[in-house]
Amino acid sequence: MDWRTRGLCLGEDPDLFFPIGNTHSGRTAVQVDEAKAVCRRCPVAERCLAWAVDVGPVEGIWGGMTEGERRALRVRTVRRAVMTHTAA
Ligand code: SF4
Repeated sequence: MDWRTRGLCLGEDPDLFFPIGNTHSGRTAVQVDEAKAVCRRCPVAERCLAWAVDVGPVEGIWGGMTEGERRALRVRTVRRAVMTHTAA
Protein backbone atom coordinates (compact mmCIF):
# COMPACT_ATOMS: atom_id res chain seq x y z
CA MET A 1 0.00 0.00 0.00
CA ASP A 2 2.98 2.37 -0.18
CA TRP A 3 1.54 3.85 -3.37
CA ARG A 4 -0.85 5.73 -1.13
CA THR A 5 1.97 7.85 0.20
CA ARG A 6 2.51 9.15 -3.36
CA GLY A 7 -1.11 9.98 -4.13
CA LEU A 8 -1.80 13.59 -5.09
CA CYS A 9 -4.94 13.50 -2.96
CA LEU A 10 -2.72 13.72 0.12
CA GLY A 11 -2.35 17.43 -0.64
CA GLU A 12 -6.09 17.97 -1.08
CA ASP A 13 -9.08 18.26 1.21
CA PRO A 14 -10.12 14.61 1.84
CA ASP A 15 -13.80 15.57 1.60
CA LEU A 16 -13.27 16.33 -2.10
CA PHE A 17 -12.95 12.58 -2.77
CA PHE A 18 -16.04 11.59 -0.81
CA PRO A 19 -18.92 13.43 -2.45
CA ILE A 20 -22.31 13.22 -0.80
CA GLY A 21 -25.42 13.15 -2.96
CA ASN A 22 -26.16 12.51 -6.63
CA THR A 23 -22.80 12.32 -8.35
CA HIS A 24 -24.43 13.16 -11.71
CA SER A 25 -25.84 16.59 -10.94
CA GLY A 26 -25.33 19.90 -9.21
CA ARG A 27 -22.55 20.73 -6.81
CA THR A 28 -21.78 17.04 -6.23
CA ALA A 29 -21.07 16.51 -9.95
CA VAL A 30 -18.70 19.49 -9.89
CA GLN A 31 -16.96 18.01 -6.85
CA VAL A 32 -16.60 14.64 -8.63
CA ASP A 33 -15.06 16.37 -11.65
CA GLU A 34 -12.62 18.24 -9.40
CA ALA A 35 -11.56 15.03 -7.66
CA LYS A 36 -11.16 13.23 -10.98
CA ALA A 37 -8.98 16.08 -12.25
CA VAL A 38 -6.60 15.46 -9.35
CA CYS A 39 -6.59 11.71 -10.08
CA ARG A 40 -5.79 12.35 -13.76
CA ARG A 41 -2.53 14.01 -12.70
CA CYS A 42 -1.73 11.42 -10.05
CA PRO A 43 1.34 9.22 -10.61
CA VAL A 44 -0.22 6.23 -8.85
CA ALA A 45 -3.70 6.39 -10.41
CA GLU A 46 -3.40 2.98 -12.10
CA ARG A 47 -2.43 1.23 -8.88
CA CYS A 48 -5.07 3.12 -6.94
CA LEU A 49 -7.79 2.07 -9.37
CA ALA A 50 -6.59 -1.55 -9.37
CA TRP A 51 -6.72 -1.60 -5.58
CA ALA A 52 -10.20 -0.07 -5.45
CA VAL A 53 -11.54 -2.53 -8.04
CA ASP A 54 -9.96 -5.50 -6.25
CA VAL A 55 -11.14 -4.56 -2.79
CA GLY A 56 -14.77 -4.31 -3.90
CA PRO A 57 -17.34 -1.73 -2.89
CA VAL A 58 -15.60 1.22 -1.29
CA GLU A 59 -16.96 4.74 -1.07
CA GLY A 60 -15.44 7.71 -2.78
CA ILE A 61 -13.34 8.59 -5.79
CA TRP A 62 -10.40 6.20 -6.18
CA GLY A 63 -8.25 5.94 -9.27
CA GLY A 64 -10.35 8.57 -11.01
CA MET A 65 -13.62 6.67 -10.77
CA THR A 66 -16.69 6.80 -8.59
CA GLU A 67 -17.90 3.69 -6.81
CA GLY A 68 -20.62 3.28 -9.45
CA GLU A 69 -18.10 3.52 -12.29
CA ARG A 70 -15.86 0.94 -10.64
CA ARG A 71 -18.83 -1.38 -10.16
CA ALA A 72 -19.62 -1.09 -13.87
CA LEU A 73 -15.95 -1.78 -14.68
CA ARG A 74 -16.05 -4.90 -12.48
CA VAL A 75 -19.18 -6.13 -14.26
CA ARG A 76 -17.65 -5.54 -17.71
CA THR A 77 -14.45 -7.32 -16.67
CA VAL A 78 -16.35 -10.36 -15.34
CA ARG A 79 -18.57 -10.51 -18.43
CA ARG A 80 -15.53 -10.34 -20.70
CA ALA A 81 -13.85 -13.15 -18.72
CA VAL A 82 -16.97 -15.33 -18.92
CA MET A 83 -17.32 -14.74 -22.65
CA THR A 84 -13.66 -15.55 -23.22
CA HIS A 85 -13.97 -18.71 -21.11
CA THR A 86 -17.13 -19.94 -22.86
CA ALA A 87 -15.66 -19.21 -26.30
CA ALA A 88 -12.55 -21.28 -25.59
S1 SF4 B 1 -5.65 8.25 -8.10
FE1 SF4 B 1 -6.82 9.83 -7.03
S2 SF4 B 1 -7.59 8.83 -5.17
FE2 SF4 B 1 -5.96 7.53 -6.00
S3 SF4 B 1 -4.09 8.13 -4.92
FE3 SF4 B 1 -4.20 9.33 -6.81
S4 SF4 B 1 -5.25 11.24 -6.30
FE4 SF4 B 1 -5.62 9.78 -4.64
